Amino acid sequence: MGTFYTGDHPNPKARQIINTLSKVFKIKPSQFASLKVEKRQHDPFKTLVVTILSQNSTDRSAGRAFEKLEEVIGGISPEKLSAAPVQRIRNAIAIGGLQWHKAPALRQLSRTILEQYAGDLDQILSKPFDEARELLMDLPQVGPKTADVLLVTSASQPTIPVDTHVDRVSRRLGLAPLKGGYEKVRASIQSLFPRIKYHQVHLLLIAHGRAYCTALRPKCPTCPVRKYCPYPRKTRPISKRSN
Ligand code: SF4
Repeated sequence: MGTFYTGDHPNPKARQIINTLSKVFKIKPSQFASLKVEKRQHDPFKTLVVTILSQNSTDRSAGRAFEKLEEVIGGISPEKLSAAPVQRIRNAIAIGGLQWHKAPALRQLSRTILEQYAGDLDQILSKPFDEARELLMDLPQVGPKTADVLLVTSASQPTIPVDTHVDRVSRRLGLAPLKGGYEKVRASIQSLFPRIKYHQVHLLLIAHGRAYCTALRPKCPTCPVRKYCPYPRKTRPISKRSN
């Protein structure tokens, strides 16, 4: 990815953090379930389905569940998903977890998109950002994070989805306040970067959260942005035993 950007910036620390992360992590679509499906298939409905499969799951499991679902019902479309028996959907996506909840939700989502938008999500994604986001969040199983992922991934709209990694990493690094919900975190991070960089910021913070700034025991001693991090509970190197 190379140097993220140079020049003046309203928050030099934020710039240095992201510049450093952009040198450390080589972002590949294959590392992100939604981006991988979008790049390969250019179909926002499929991107939405895999994004829902990734809710409370890992991208790897979501990707495998998506592929299995495609295989079992012969391709993924609102028509095919709404017509498929819920038990077949459930069995296909079990590898990603929460199948008892997600299978009927995916079928309901498909039916809603068929009924309200003739199966065409571009009818939503072509609208101005705020309107598109509201319409997406009216769909079954679509909350702000899923809507933001779809908007930035399939429609290049300016938003930073706040998944569990982005939330944790941005708060620890001081890019977002310690208190406050989804919208506060999103607004805080977005205020620090140009809109054109939002998607990259999202992907870099996830990459860092997976590799170093993990939930339970972050790898602070080797963290590439440690010197910028105010997190008071940084981990220390594991000391060698003397015997
Ligand atoms: S120093 Fe630790 S807490 Fe801070 S960003 Fe790095 S891994 Fe996360």
